[in-house]
Parts: sequence; structure tokens; C-alpha cells
Amino acid sequence: MEALVIGSGIAGMACAVRLARQGIHTTLASPAPSGYSESVMAAGGINAVLNDGDDFVESHVQDTLKGGCGLSGEKAVRGLCSHGEEIIRFLESIGTVFSVDQNNRLLRRAFGGQSHKRTCYCGSSTGKQIVSALIMEARRFEASGMITRRLRVHFHSALIKDGICYGALFFNMKSLRLEAFYSDFTVMATGGQNALFGKTTGSTLCDGYAAGRLFMQGAELKNLEFIQYHPTTLETAQKKMLISEAVRGEGGRLFYMEQGKRIYFMEEKYGEKGNLLTRDLISREISGCGKDVFLDISFLDEKTIDDRLPEVRDLCMKYRRIDIKKEPIPVSPSVHFFMGGFAVHLNHETNIQNLFAIGECASMYHGANRLGGNSLLSAMYSGFVASDEIVGRESREKIPDFSAYLEQERKLLKKDQDSRSTFPVFYIRDLLSATMNEHLGIVRDEESLEKGLSDIDYYLSIAKKIRYDRSVSPYTNYSLNAMLTLAGAVLYSARERRESRGAHYRRDHAKTKEEYASSSLVSYNHGDYSLRPDREHSYES
Ligand SMILES: Cc1cc2nc3c(=O)[nH]c(=O)nc-3n(C[C@H](O)[C@H](O)[C@H](O)COP(=O)(O)OP(=O)(O)OC[C@H]3O[C@@H](n4cnc5c(N)ncnc54)[C@H](O)[C@@H]3O)c2cc1C
Repeated sequence: MEALVIGSGIAGMACAVRLARQGIHTTLASPAPSGYSESVMAAGGINAVLNDGDDFVESHVQDTLKGGCGLSGEKAVRGLCSHGEEIIRFLESIGTVFSVDQNNRLLRRAFGGQSHKRTCYCGSSTGKQIVSALIMEARRFEASGMITRRLRVHFHSALIKDGICYGALFFNMKSLRLEAFYSDFTVMATGGQNALFGKTTGSTLCDGYAAGRLFMQGAELKNLEFIQYHPTTLETAQKKMLISEAVRGEGGRLFYMEQGKRIYFMEEKYGEKGNLLTRDLISREISGCGKDVFLDISFLDEKTIDDRLPEVRDLCMKYRRIDIKKEPIPVSPSVHFFMGGFAVHLNHETNIQNLFAIGECASMYHGANRLGGNSLLSAMYSGFVASDEIVGRESREKIPDFSAYLEQERKLLKKDQDSRSTFPVFYIRDLLSATMNEHLGIVRDEESLEKGLSDIDYYLSIAKKIRYDRSVSPYTNYSLNAMLTLAGAVLYSARERRESRGAHYRRDHAKTKEEYASSSLVSYNHGDYSLRPDREHSYES
């Protein structure tokens, strides 16, 4: 039996390692090494209820369901929360070093929306430590031949016949050719959709292309309108650097200037705890005030800053020459996490047979909003669930003939590669991110979403006609169409949800409405989107 895992962040690696451990040969494919995945950026930690204190699984379940505002399936959430300890012990067993107290007990920090301190961490580099341990574990299986690592390959499209997936086509960045990888089971682990928005806190390798292309090939997507913003990020040339909640936890105060005076707007409006309210509420207040906002921690003594906020101190100095001991940090909200993605069943299979999706590219546990620390847990857990499902399945019998499809896609690619045009593809990508930030921001309304949809239609009409600049990677060129199609589906889902819930806030429908208490499933048919509300959690089977 052969498995193919696409994407090598925490979800992809967790799945590949577990498959290999259970004797399934797995090809792990990604454009860049795991050390470049978004997973390494996770600093805060991973949630788990450990059997050593007063926390309990039901409390984690209830906190997660509450965060999801009625849209996360209860069965799925119960599975996730009850496996926290097993996942932490697995990670320790492969060499992840968690922070501990003098009695060797794992330390846990408090994260927003949780009724207990349950976020385990490795200093402030939890993601990096987990990725490093998984890389070492994967290498053991590479050495024994159970994992084959393929680098510098981009997913191009899935090999699907009669609703069954038989592997995928990849664009090989070395040979500049398309290559087919056949497999019994294919697992998408391609992360979020950051590049639709240009600069975000996440990785631009996560461009949403894979989700967009599979959407066009028949995969159903879910809850795309729910996008989590982080309120405090620092803008740099390449991205928005996350300024951890720890700064506000240590007493950091948000303010803007008016007539030469500091206005501590969160405290004025919400009282003493105003700076510690939820991510979406603070993001809305910052974006709504229409002023340049700053976060001040300079009143703390230097030793406390050095002891408790060394990373924030270093990143502000490194990227913007800001000394946080002396001056405030200019902050703005930024796209941070995607609750939506591939619609998957409890076993993480999509609506296409033998095609699975895990990690941030799948929509399952977080409903309308996710709790901090739950995404690393769900990346690990979903990788385990998909691998265990695959292990219990029969392998396929015969691969259908895909040679005509391969030929057609090779011809299309060659046409672009032979083009003499110098049209800059980044021109349309920049327009796309401007549209997404303007019309699908923290606060939305019908008019703006309509405008966003018509922008996307226009970009699609151009994208279909032009041949691209040959100086950039062919992948960057051909990926545009699917990215635009996905962007349209996100805007469409946001327009159709005429209420406010979790991370989706509509100025023109500011209340949560009972008639919208269902997930949105969106599908694609020859250029048209259609949406069906899923009140019954029909995928939870
Ligand atoms: C700054 C920051 C801090 C965070 N902190 C926390 C935290 O403290 N706790 C927490 O729980 N969560 C945190 N998160 C969220 C968490 O890090 C992610 O949700 C999680 O790591 C996603 O893992 P993943 O394996 O699904 O995807 P990723 O780690 O994003 O991996 C995706 C993989 O897919 C590959 N890929 C992408 N496109 C293609 C393609 N076309 N073809 C082939 N491969 C492709 C990429 O190269 C990569 O290997 C944070 C996120 C950010 C941005």
C-alpha cells in the first residue's frame, strides 16, 4: 500500500511518521523543507489536559465548543480534546523538550477563552521544537526506506476518476516539468491561505492554491468566511510579525494619540481589563478607531522585559529598530488563522474518496473561531486520525489511465512556458490581496463583499486571457487562477452569512441569528459557486 502526504508542516509530518510506524510506505512531498513551514512560527504552545491537576477533558471540550460559537461538531471536538495527553507523551517520546518546573512537571500557560491553564509550551519556540523532533523521527523512517522525502515539488492537481483519488500531479521546480505521483491514499496538509491576503502573520508558502485547485476539481470547502485576525502585529517589509498576547498579559496598554494626548481607548471603553479582551473584539476596536495604534510596555522595569518578553524585545529591535524598553510598538491587526478549509468527515476524508485533508487546510474543530493552542493540537491529532483510517483500509486495485489528462496539463503548462509576454503576475496578485484586505476585512457588509466579488470576476477574466512573465516560476503563474477562484468562494461565503458569529462580523447584520447556526459548505461548478448550510454536521460521520 502507498500513501502520499502533501505538505510537511506539523500535520503532514505527524501523519507520515504515524503511517510509516504502522508499515505504510509514504511519500512526503513539499516545495520546501519542514523548517520553512508555518508550523515553526507557533510560539505560544499546544493545548492538552494532563492527568496531573484539576483540569479535565470536559472543560477543554466546553471551552472549544464555546469558542466555535455552535459550529464545531461535538463528536470531533471530544475526540480532539481527549487525545491531548497522548499527543504530548508522543511528542516527548520523540524528543520534544517541553518547559517543566523543578518537579519535572510540564508547565502550562493561560490562553484566551480557556477556563484552565492548559497550554503546554517549549519556551517561546513550541512549533520549532515540535517540528525539529518530527524531522528527526521522519529521518529514521527515511533511512529505513519507509518514508520517501520529495522536495522542490508543488502540488499541481489531484488524479481523480469517478470521484476517487489516485494520487496527484506535481510541478517539479528543478526539471520545470509535471510529474505524476500515484498512491492508494492522498493526504492534503497544505496549511492556510495566507497569500490571498499578501502580508499576514503566517507563511506565504501557504497560498491556498491547493485548496482552490481541488475546489475546482470537486472538493467541497467549509466555513471559509471565518478568518481569525490577531490584533497586535508589527508591519515589516515581508510580513506582519506577531506581537504576542504575552505583552498585554504583562500589562501592555493600547493607545492612540489625540491632540497630543494618549487615549487608552480599550481601558476607557471596557475598563481595567480592556487590553485583555478577545482577539476579534480588540481587532475590531483597533480597525474601527481609524487611528495609528500603539502598544506600550516601556513602563515595565528592564529586567522584567528581559526575563519575560525577550523575543518581542528582539524582533522589534531586529525588524524595526524599536527599543520596547523606551518606546511604544506601532501595532495593527492582521490575518492570522483560517478556521475554514476542506470539508472533512470525522476520519478526515474529503468528499472525494481516498483523498484526506488535515491540519490548517481542513475545517473541522474550530467552528467560527479557534482557541489559541488548539491548532497545533488539531494538526497533530488530525494527522493521527487520517493515518489510522488509512491503515485500516484496503489498497486500490488498478490505477486508471491518466495519460490524456497528463498530456493536456503538460500542453497547458508549455504554452505558458513558451510565452513571450512580460505581463507581471504579481500585479494581479497585489490587486487580489488589496481586494481581500479591503472587502473582507475585520468588519464586513453586503456592499463591500459584492464589490470584492466583482473585483475577483474581473481579475479572473484577465487571468484567463493573458500569458505571463517568464522570469517568475511557472508555478506562481499557473497558481493564480485557482487562488482567485478560492478568493471568490471566501467572499461568496462571507456574503451569504448575513449575521455576525465568531470571527465573522457584519456591520449590516451585527447580531448572531439562530437561522444561521450551521456550517457553510461551498462547492464549485463551471465557474459558479453554490452554498449549502450544514446544520446537522453531516460530515460528522
Ligand atoms: C505566527 C504564528 C504563531 C502561531 N502560534 C500558535 C500557537 O502558539 N499555538 C497553536 O496551536 N497554533 C499557533 N499558530 C497556528 C499554527 O502554527 C498552524 O495552524 C499550524 O502550524 C498549521 O500546521 P499545518 O501542518 O497544517 O500547516 P503548515 O505548517 O503551514 O504546513 C503546510 C505545508 O504545506 C506545504 N504546501 C503549501 N502549499 C503547497 C503546495 N501547493 N504543494 C505542496 N506543498 C504545499 C508547505 O510548504 C508546508 O510544508 C500560529 C501561527 C502563526 C502564523
